[in-house]
Amino acid sequence: MVDSEFAFELRVCQWAEREWPPTGGRDPPIIVARQLGTKRRRWDTIVIECDRDGLSRRADFGRQRLDSDLLHVVRHAPDSWTYYRDALPDPGYPWRYVRESIHAAADRGVLDSRKRGNRIEIRKRYEYPDWIERVVAVENKPDLDASAARDLAPQLQRDVALGLADEVWVATGRTDERVEPILLEDLPARAGVLTVDPATASADVAWYPQSLAVDDPGTRILERPDDTASGARFEYADPAWKASKRRAIAERAYERGWRAYADTMRPDCRHFQVRTEGKSVVPHCGAKDRTPTPGECRQACSSFEPEPPVWRTRGWPIEGGPGAGIKRLLADQRRRQRPGLDEG
Ligand code: SF4
Repeated sequence: MVDSEFAFELRVCQWAEREWPPTGGRDPPIIVARQLGTKRRRWDTIVIECDRDGLSRRADFGRQRLDSDLLHVVRHAPDSWTYYRDALPDPGYPWRYVRESIHAAADRGVLDSRKRGNRIEIRKRYEYPDWIERVVAVENKPDLDASAARDLAPQLQRDVALGLADEVWVATGRTDERVEPILLEDLPARAGVLTVDPATASADVAWYPQSLAVDDPGTRILERPDDTASGARFEYADPAWKASKRRAIAERAYERGWRAYADTMRPDCRHFQVRTEGKSVVPHCGAKDRTPTPGECRQACSSFEPEPPVWRTRGWPIEGGPGAGIKRLLADQRRRQRPGLDEG
C-alpha cells in the first residue's frame, strides 16, 4: 500500500530504473533522479538517457556535479597552456568569478592551471563529453482527480511549450476502470501517460508522448488568463539557455540519483527500516507503519528515537550500526547507477 506522493515517487523511480524506456527498442544507460528542474519548474522524476561512451568518460570529472560556472571552464579549456581570458568565451559575468571556478576546478583535479607572472594559464585535463542524449520529465500524480487534473494541465502546457525536456509524462495510479480516468482529462496530447501499480512498482503506457523540439527556441508561458479577452504573456527561451539548463539538470541527476533521500532522512532512528521491493529498497517507519516522507523523517520528528548504541555491537563493531549500514547500502546502489565510476 502506498501512502504518500513521496512513496509513489520512489516506486516510479524504481520502475524507471528497471524498465526504461517504456517504448522499448533502445537500451540506453540511464540515470534516474528526483525533484530536479529549473528555478521556475521542478519535476518529480527525471530520467537522463545517456550516451554509453560519453557517460563512461564523464566519470573522469568525479562524482560531484559540475555547476554551470565549472562547466564554462572545463568545456572551453584549451589543449595547451593559454592565458585563461584568451581561452574562455566572455562569461557574461565578472572574470573574478571565472578565476574562482578555475581554482575550484584545479582543486578537484579536472583542470590544469598554473601561474605565469601575474597571469593564470589553464589547460584541459579531460574532454568534457557529450553524455546526455535525452532528458525525460515525469510528473507524479498518484490520485489524479478532476481538480488535480485542472491544476496539472497548465503545468504540462508550459512544459510542452518550453520544450526543455525531450519528453514529458504524467505517472498516475492505475485504476481498474475500462478507460483510465486520466485519459478523459484535458491534458496536452503531446504529454505521455503512465499508469502505475504502486504495490508492484510496475507501469504501463496509457498514452505515448511526442518528442519535443529541445534544440528549437522554446516559449515560456508567463501568464495564461482564463478569460479569452485577455492575452497570454510569454517570452522566448533561446536554445543556448535550454542546452545549459539541460546540462545543469543532468549534472545534478548524476551527483544525486534518486536515493539521496537517505541524506536527509534519519536512518539512525531505531524505527527506520528499509523494505525490499523487487530489486529495490524503500524506507519504512516502524512507528508510523508506512513510508515516511523526508519532511517527517527528520530531527524534529516527535517519534524519533536514536538507534540504541548496543545495536552497534552486534555485527557492526567498527562500521556503525544498522543506520550506517542502510546509508552505505543506498550509497552503493547510487554508485552502481553511474556506470564508469569506481566502486570505491
Ligand atoms: S520515527 Fe520519525 S525519525 Fe524515526 S523513522 Fe519514523 S519518521 Fe523517521
